[in-house]
Amino acid sequence: MITPQPGIMDIALYQGGASHIDGIDDPLKLSSNENPFGPSDKAVEAIAKAAQKAHRYPSTDHAALRAAIGETYGLDPEKIIIGVGSDEILTLLAMAYAGPGDEVLYPEHGFSLYRIIALAAGATPVVAAEDGRTVDVDALLDAVTPATRLVYFANPANPSGTMIPQSDVERLTNGLPDQCLLVLDGAYAEFVDGYDGGATMVAERDNVVMTRTFSKIYGLGGLRVGWGYAPQAIIDVLNRIRGPFNMSGVALAGAEAAVRDQAFVDRCREVNADERARLTGGLHQLGIACDESFANFVLARFADEAEALAADAYLKSQGILVRIVKGYGFPEALRITVGRPEDNTRVLDALRSFKGAA
Ligand SMILES: *Cc1c(COP(=O)(O)O)cnc(C)c1O
Repeated sequence: MITPQPGIMDIALYQGGASHIDGIDDPLKLSSNENPFGPSDKAVEAIAKAAQKAHRYPSTDHAALRAAIGETYGLDPEKIIIGVGSDEILTLLAMAYAGPGDEVLYPEHGFSLYRIIALAAGATPVVAAEDGRTVDVDALLDAVTPATRLVYFANPANPSGTMIPQSDVERLTNGLPDQCLLVLDGAYAEFVDGYDGGATMVAERDNVVMTRTFSKIYGLGGLRVGWGYAPQAIIDVLNRIRGPFNMSGVALAGAEAAVRDQAFVDRCREVNADERARLTGGLHQLGIACDESFANFVLARFADEAEALAADAYLKSQGILVRIVKGYGFPEALRITVGRPEDNTRVLDALRSFKGAA
């Protein structure tokens, strides 16, 4: 019999954000934390130009993009690895450092990919409780066993949008045993003004890795580019198992132009912060609970699952797609990506009508 490796059939297929509503041509898609302004014009130009060279095999060492990231973020390009989204970096880490009998630990409401990649590596996923909707460092440390090889968490977190302070991240790192690697998923780090995503910690320790992405603030989710920053020894391991031509030339060129256009990133960060505050305030006015978010989405909490589903259905009827997050342990909530100002006004108007009709 042809049989897959143990654990693989325990993986439930990843559920992406909805992108389609029957009978509505152009829905307002606020279900995948994409940049509502799209990518920078400079990235689009670079992609078009690189398309003319599509017959050439791409770079295998990604040196130009690593140099651009290094310059922009003040990091050593030798300690950077480029992947097909940060998903690939997160996956390579599990492939390299976890296997049967090993445990991969992450928080209760953590990104759904962590479970998938743990099982794909043949390892055992282990979940630590959160403190409400916030990562709980003590619960993570309590859940560490001699079999724990990797700890993944996102700061800011998805889908809660909450963030833990650097002092807590350091306490977690200090408390981990020698065999255990900490992976700081910084998919939303650029939305936090002045936050380095954990890069300083990576430079100081030998057991911390940071992952970042071009899919969120850079508006390039469709291009599939992410990167990792890690101690040299770990980069060396990951480079042995990644595909030599994992990145297309188009993707490399688009990401390089994007990272060099920090004026675009700064504008997006500012508008996002203003609009996130307006969305959060508007939800509170409607009696919809919502924590302070540090990312480009908010988690709107309704009275119960029935009300959340009714709100989702009403938003759909108005052409608006948001994310149901029952699979993340929040059946009573909807995750709403911060859109353009006019989009957020539409969301708040729709929710006002929904609440008024209820
Ligand atoms: C969106 C997201 C990512 C990024 O995935 P890519 O593969 O880079 O598109 C990683 N982690 C979290 C928590 C995310 O929400």
